[in-house]
Amino acid sequence: MKVAFFSAKSYDKEYFNKFNSDHQHDLTFLEVPLNAQTVSLTTGFDVVCVFVNDVINQKVIDVIHANGIKVIALRCAGFNNVDLKAAKSRGIKVVRVPAYSPESVAEHAVALILTLNRKTHKAYNRVREGNFSIENLTGFNLFGKTVGVIGTGLIGASFCKIMLGFGCKVQAYDIRESEELVQIGVQYKSLDEVFRESEIISLHCPLNPHTAYLINQESIGKMKDGVMLINTSRGALINTQDAIEGLKSGKIGFLGIDVYEQEADLFFQDLSEIVIQDDVIARLISFPNVLITGHLGFFTKEALEEIATITLGNLSDFEHDKELVNEVKS
Ligand code: NAD
Repeated sequence: MKVAFFSAKSYDKEYFNKFNSDHQHDLTFLEVPLNAQTVSLTTGFDVVCVFVNDVINQKVIDVIHANGIKVIALRCAGFNNVDLKAAKSRGIKVVRVPAYSPESVAEHAVALILTLNRKTHKAYNRVREGNFSIENLTGFNLFGKTVGVIGTGLIGASFCKIMLGFGCKVQAYDIRESEELVQIGVQYKSLDEVFRESEIISLHCPLNPHTAYLINQESIGKMKDGVMLINTSRGALINTQDAIEGLKSGKIGFLGIDVYEQEADLFFQDLSEIVIQDDVIARLISFPNVLITGHLGFFTKEALEEIATITLGNLSDFEHDKELVNEVKS
């Protein structure tokens, strides 16, 4: 099938080309994102292969339908950036990679916790400059702390297991509880209890109308003073302005984020020589207790291999009229 990759990076080319020999799809890699401005580039293709910040709204779907696109292949798990109803009404299939190495994201969430807590990034810079002082690098033991997990699907479950390994008390909220996690010691609680009782809160639920701005002035107000908040899921789970107020008052003691509501204008690009116009992220970057990574939770070689093989398999299944096991339905 003729596949147009949008937002394509060098690693997409490397991994998809490597695993395409079994499938023989015709792959074209475009650096631009897919959105209303770039959608005319879809002419002549059967498939658009998109990533987290491509915008596949009603307008884009109308044009790709007119251009003969039959499949939207998400090379990620989340699908909040696709208007599923519009795709369905135009008969366009949407497929995704529901599970690729959930450990990659779970382990990144742990990396954010450990870095914020033990300040290894600051210690590294000090030592490089010949400064061996440990003043102001005090951390806290994770052992015995209460960790709240919101969303215990694949990534959240992996995260729970790691935190249990640290000797933490792990409590969780999900609309569906996992018996397997209860068996190994995770306690399910109400959302309010998770907010009120946790020293660390990590978000692993999808972004949807029920979870948008789950973390806001009111929920932050319920949290323990000095709480550590970790978000590797989707930026709009947090009302960033409210989080900034929480940081300024000291209510939020640490914030670690791999995702940001307005990340589409920033992430995955080298903006080091450009004046950043987004004052909200500029304010966030200025806090000594905020750690931001640019959506790289998924970025391990194991995950990239799985993303490529599952996406190419999804397209071959469509081509050969097989059941689309990874179809996203509205
Ligand atoms: P999953 O579908 O396996 O798990 C999501 C869990 O959230 C499910 O158990 C579901 O019941 C629960 N949930 C749904 N609505 C909820 C609500 N209102 N409150 C609490 N829980 C709710 O998904 P996953 O693979 O674990 O991925 C979780 C999220 O991680 C994805 O939606 C995506 O946004 C994000 N993600 C980020 C990266 C990254 O690189 N940072 C990579 C992959 C996925």
